Amino acid sequence: MSKTHFKDLPLIEPIQRALEEQEYTEPSPIQALAIPLLLEGRDLLACAQTGTGKTAAFALPMLNRIATQGRKPFRRGVRNLILVPTRELAVQVTESFRTYGKHLDLKIAMIYGGVSQTPQTKELYFGLDILVATTGRLLDLMKQGHANLSGVECLVLDEADRMLAMGFIDDLREIVSDTPKERQTLLFSATMAKGVGKLAEGLLNDPERIRIDPEGTTAEKIDQSVLFVRLRDKPALLLDLLHSQYFEKKEELCLIFTRTKRDARLIATHLNRDGIRSDTIHGDRTQAAREDALRRFKLGETPVLVATDVAARGIDVKNIGLVINYDLPMDSENYVHRIGRTARAGESGRSLSFCSEIEQDVSRFKGIERLIKQTIPTIREHDFHDEAIEALHREGIALPEVPGERRPARGVRSAAKRAPKGREEKPKSKKGAEGGRAAKQKRAGRPFRGFGRGRP
Ligand code: AMP
Repeated sequence: MSKTHFKDLPLIEPIQRALEEQEYTEPSPIQALAIPLLLEGRDLLACAQTGTGKTAAFALPMLNRIATQGRKPFRRGVRNLILVPTRELAVQVTESFRTYGKHLDLKIAMIYGGVSQTPQTKELYFGLDILVATTGRLLDLMKQGHANLSGVECLVLDEADRMLAMGFIDDLREIVSDTPKERQTLLFSATMAKGVGKLAEGLLNDPERIRIDPEGTTAEKIDQSVLFVRLRDKPALLLDLLHSQYFEKKEELCLIFTRTKRDARLIATHLNRDGIRSDTIHGDRTQAAREDALRRFKLGETPVLVATDVAARGIDVKNIGLVINYDLPMDSENYVHRIGRTARAGESGRSLSFCSEIEQDVSRFKGIERLIKQTIPTIREHDFHDEAIEALHREGIALPEVPGERRPARGVRSAAKRAPKGREEKPKSKKGAEGGRAAKQKRAGRPFRGFGRGRP
């Protein structure tokens, strides 16, 4: 399958030329499977991980069809609609369409919330061949009469599982009900999470089904590891790692995930103070700031980007060599999405996950290993490795009581009951710390306090 060449696919010359310019030679497995089916006009339900080349899998046949039909969109009309969960993904998908369609004369636009709607309504006014949109803003514009979906020929739901998880199902249904029933419909989802199948049932007409990777498995090329570390040592461990062998290839970019926007901000400040150029991408930043952060990250000007899950969705940056889960994700499936930011399109990559003593980490870590059906190897060769935490996670052995410290004694459950709310994010006072660790932290500089009070 991977031996197919793009030249073997019935795609028109201007598209072939654009692919050559991108130095794409072989279609990825999902492209080899999906492109012929989509050119025939079939509906598709595709379960494919991020980084598999799924965007081109739907973009190329769509561009081909539009260009060969030669029809023009009508005023305020949209001929092909791609719905995505986030602004970042909208930008990325639109960029892909523009790249693959650069030798075609097509009207392509994107709309998303958080920015002025005027330029978007202007683009819609003359009609669009391709519109990439997030659901909320699109619905607003439809209600105001700026967008007419009655002529939609092809509808794509990209990262459908994500849209459902973000609670967009009602918007989605409302939008879809304005499109013609005889459209072509494609649904892409990284996982077949609950609800995706049900959504597909109602929307797709006798779809072809493609599954590129079994549900929940992580990209094989990612070298995953876990580091068992006390909560309060995480900042110092992060600095050590970034200064050490794990980040020695300076041309590689590093993406760090935190649970809250506040932590993202604090970590970036912490790293910058230590001479590691970093920036953030999270929901509190304006669209312009996010795009600027992403641009500078891509260029390597700020080789470390600290992100929250929602904002990181859709980040498609080549050359991310390392993903660090500073906090484990609350939802195991996000682990797959996070680490999928490295090893894009067949490159190799590495992920390091910090796993601490808090009760939430116990269930999160268990959930991740269960989902990916793998035991993530442990890295013990660092100054902050904590055997007791490893035993807690691996063997369920409760943490021993340490004099002068509030550590769980009677098992995780009882410890959690005693723990004040939000305890996991609060670094302990220096007073209670063991001498060695305190010294290490001091050396590493530990300027931030009170992690995790922000919202994800
Ligand atoms: P996606 O899964 O659509 O987010 O794509 C992941 C990355 O793979 C993007 O950076 C694409 O530009 C790249 N890509 C997609 N298809 C190919 C291909 N056939 N050959 C090389 N790179 C590709």
